Amino acid sequence: MEDTKGEAMKDQIERCDYCGGELKPGTTTLEVWRGDELVVIRDIPADVCQQCQEAYLSAQISLRLDHFLGEYHQHRPERYLAVPQYSAIQAIGG
Ligand SMILES: [Zn+2]
Repeated sequence: MEDTKGEAMKDQIERCDYCGGELKPGTTTLEVWRGDELVVIRDIPADVCQQCQEAYLSAQISLRLDHFLGEYHQHRPERYLAVPQYSAIQAIGG
């Protein structure tokens, strides 16, 4: 009988999957669309690649974010951001 619980918890990576850069503890901002709403969550603790800035979330934090995104409407946002939107015709011409 083998106990694999200890290993399941150890999901940390030391190197970036994309560029092989070094990961260091930091924070990241999550931007995720929910229907026609863009939800932004700032200052999430993450392991951040020092080369390409790719952020890696722990399984525990991912779970908590998933839970929050299922019920974020029940929380009053810290603030609202104004986001400029352009059409492709404006951006690259008709
Ligand atoms: Zn990287």
